[in-house]
Amino acid sequence: MASLNRIISLFPTLQSLASFVSTIDLFSLALTNKSNYAYILSSQSTFNSLRRRCICDGRGLLDRQTFAGLYNCNQLDVVYNSWSNSWSNEPIEVRLYNANCDAAGALPCRKCGINICEECRHYQREPPDSIEPRPHINAAQEVRNVMCLCNACDARVEAKVRGQFLNETCDCNVYKRWICHKCAKEEQKFTRKYYNEFTTLEQAEGLTKYIRDSAIFRDFFCLCTATVPQNTRPRCTWCKRRHLPENQWRLEWEEILAGEDFE
Ligand SMILES: [Zn+2]
Ligand SMILES: [Zn+2]
Ligand SMILES: [Zn+2]
Ligand SMILES: [Zn+2]
Repeated sequence: MASLNRIISLFPTLQSLASFVSTIDLFSLALTNKSNYAYILSSQSTFNSLRRRCICDGRGLLDRQTFAGLYNCNQLDVVYNSWSNSWSNEPIEVRLYNANCDAAGALPCRKCGINICEECRHYQREPPDSIEPRPHINAAQEVRNVMCLCNACDARVEAKVRGQFLNETCDCNVYKRWICHKCAKEEQKFTRKYYNEFTTLEQAEGLTKYIRDSAIFRDFFCLCTATVPQNTRPRCTWCKRRHLPENQWRLEWEEILAGEDFE
């Protein structure tokens, strides 16, 4: 064991080892004893340079093949027949069971940094009924994946996201963004909680910000429960960046329909 630890302590060996294991396995190796921890995890920059070499662990593809988590069929499209009965429509993706995890062709998840491949990153593969690549705009004009914060909380979030992205304003694209299944699940959990606990059908009579939500208006409260000024720009619950003001969303939607945001 002592000699194994000595081999692991050599950086070129560690670099080579990292390119054969997943990020989680590398992390687990670091936790096996004090000396491995010191070589792998004690310096954030060392760990970052090692984990960039890690392979994808194939879990994302396995989740798709087993309809686990967000790929659960109950959450997929419901099809209505001519008698208005409905049933879950399982996506038939012919190539799904022949797909392979591209272990060595992985890139880091935008949120947690774990390396994932094209087949394992999270998004629904079956063709969408309508093109809705952006988190906040949709054909039904329902308010989705949006939060509004009070001035103090908004400033705190802005300070956190500044410099983290190329674009200051949200440019999340459902099909293009590189995110692992676990992070997508956490995003959905946060989004649901905010929607259920911090938004209501309009009843505050202008005391807090409201946005048209399909045929109704919806009131938005901050995560700290404070009211929100009407001129506050909504934020994306995924990336936490600001969106354009909501009176420009129709123009964004028209640009999407014109194919400018969907390749
Ligand atoms: Zn993979
Ligand atoms: Zn992730
Ligand atoms: Zn607040
Ligand atoms: Zn976003």
